[in-house]
Amino acid sequence: MHFPRTLIRLAAAVAAALFLSVLAPAGASADDLSVANINLRTPFDCGQVWNANTRTNHNPQLSVDFQRSSALGQRVRSSAPGTVTTVANLGNQSYGRYIVINHGSGITTLYAHLQTQSVSVGDSVSTGTVIGTVGSTGGSTGPHLHYEQRVNGSAVRVVLNGVAIRYYGNTTITSSTGC
Ligand SMILES: [Zn+2]
Repeated sequence: MHFPRTLIRLAAAVAAALFLSVLAPAGASADDLSVANINLRTPFDCGQVWNANTRTNHNPQLSVDFQRSSALGQRVRSSAPGTVTTVANLGNQSYGRYIVINHGSGITTLYAHLQTQSVSVGDSVSTGTVIGTVGSTGGSTGPHLHYEQRVNGSAVRVVLNGVAIRYYGNTTITSSTGC
């Protein structure tokens, strides 16, 4: 038996596609990307302890609110190297003062309700670069950091320092960023 070469190539391509679809089923691939590609760090000073709160009525639902006493004015740091793509102020609405950093591979992080913003669009940042301070701007009822990890624009379950935080509930995290 002799198969035409193009037919063999086609069969190989179909087999490869089927194999990849098994490896990365729709819905799971987004989370896998953020875990596999980048070591995203807690966005605070070394040694600071924060409560990472997740809840089903959060928008987007997979966002995290970082809370602690004396949150106001604490330094907010980039979770990983990247480029600043958004430095915006929505006034009393939604995120208020917020920043988005692009880490490549479709991965971005978002930091909202900031009191101050100390980077500009186009800036390159490193892990731990100070980008602003914690505030209560926008639709916020008290000082905290609203934080998102996104893959291709959609919020995913947050992983920090290689550890998945609890959904839904509270996780105590001690920042090891810049230690
Ligand atoms: Zn929030």
